[in-house]
Amino acid sequence: MAAKNPDEAFVTEITKQSVDFSRWYLDVVRKAELADYSPVKGFMVIRPYGYAIWELIQQQLDQRFKATGHVNAYFPLLIPESLLMKEAEHVEGFAPQVAWVTKGGTDDLEEKLIIRPTSETIFGVMYQKWIQSWRDLPVLINQWCNVVRWEKVTRPFLRTTEFLWQEGHTAHETAEEAQAETMKILGIYKEFAENVLAMPVVDGPKSESEKFAGASKTYSIEALMGDGRALQAGTSHNLGQNFAKAFEIQFQGRDKTLQHAWTTSWGVSTRLIGGVIMTHGDDSGLILPPRVAPWQVVIVPIPRGNWKETVLPKCEEIREQLAAAGIRVKLDADESQTPGWKFAEYEMLGVPLRLEIGPKDLEKSAVFAARRDTRAKQSLPMDGLAGTITALLDEIQQGLLARARAFRDEHTSTADTYDAFKATMEGRPGFVIAPWCERAACEADIKAETQATIRNIPAGYEQAPGKPCIKCGQPAAVSAWFAKAY
Ligand SMILES: [Zn+2]
Repeated sequence: MAAKNPDEAFVTEITKQSVDFSRWYLDVVRKAELADYSPVKGFMVIRPYGYAIWELIQQQLDQRFKATGHVNAYFPLLIPESLLMKEAEHVEGFAPQVAWVTKGGTDDLEEKLIIRPTSETIFGVMYQKWIQSWRDLPVLINQWCNVVRWEKVTRPFLRTTEFLWQEGHTAHETAEEAQAETMKILGIYKEFAENVLAMPVVDGPKSESEKFAGASKTYSIEALMGDGRALQAGTSHNLGQNFAKAFEIQFQGRDKTLQHAWTTSWGVSTRLIGGVIMTHGDDSGLILPPRVAPWQVVIVPIPRGNWKETVLPKCEEIREQLAAAGIRVKLDADESQTPGWKFAEYEMLGVPLRLEIGPKDLEKSAVFAARRDTRAKQSLPMDGLAGTITALLDEIQQGLLARARAFRDEHTSTADTYDAFKATMEGRPGFVIAPWCERAACEADIKAETQATIRNIPAGYEQAPGKPCIKCGQPAAVSAWFAKAY
């Protein structure tokens, strides 16, 4: 170990991003022990380190939902076939991906059941029971659960047959309130993605052909990954009265007339973890924004001289100080590994800040700090260390967002002609903003010829720019954001 640079030896085990981004991703997921394949094809095991990231995502989103009046509940895993069939577009969209339960023990079931691919239908049935009067509205329920959608090609976190998510389902008295709720949630998703995951997103409505099966309008947040592909990171749907009519969710209005409720649904999933990996990671592994880092700081003692009597107690004292200040900190005093091995290991795990403490640092009453994001190193005085580190973690959080935003902006361009559009899509990947006539035929042709899809149409791009559609040349109604996507 001593003869060789241990950092190099370790890092060679990950494929470089520039060689094969997709393999790099799988290497990071495996080496950082985020997830593993299970004996059931398409189903992943989320390992403790990956699950700790999910818990941090969950907690911080849950706070935001509750602060805006939402409550959590739990609905069943299994849904009767007849419920799925009630909303025509919904069944058409989901039937090909549904997993069926046909037996209970040894007996065939009278009615087949599906494992929920999403829960609009079973929420619909219960809302029909619970909602009678305008006084019962709004209903603002969220659930944290798993769903199953049978996938042919899977990739950990990004597309798996079973995944974890939250699904919000709300019912309102008026169309305006349902639309306001849809936009409120979209705003929460965007704020969360940017402030917690340090992942800048473009938010706006999807095109008609990309909307959720059964929705009146679907809005999404779209992020740009390190390979220039877009990732749909969350969706918020205004369901209009489609589900209320299919499930007879009716209430007596203020004017005593019987009316259908207006509903919404919205969700984000463990896919966000894939987004964090591909937004920030580099050839040494993960880079975690401090707000979703299971360990924000790792302390590595430098074992020299009588370190166990001097350095180690100081490390323990600092660990306690930082923990008391609310910092998630780990002290790694394992003697079976060298400091060099540990440095590489915690770089792989994306720990935002590493502290090295040896006899010399003790003499100076300082610690040596190395940032994961910039690799900048500096000596920090032990005096007031918790405050210094809290500020430094905040700086890292902001720095990652700024870096990701700069990358996104560098990889966003405009095209006014189809030739220019194709050239950009084939060359440097990223978002291309282009005028579009809003006709599905043009959208489908563009997708077939370039693999690029309309990600969404952010506010400010929906007005007619007075330019021709890049595909058909007819007057464009909007400027859409196109990209190749996950
Ligand atoms: Zn067109």
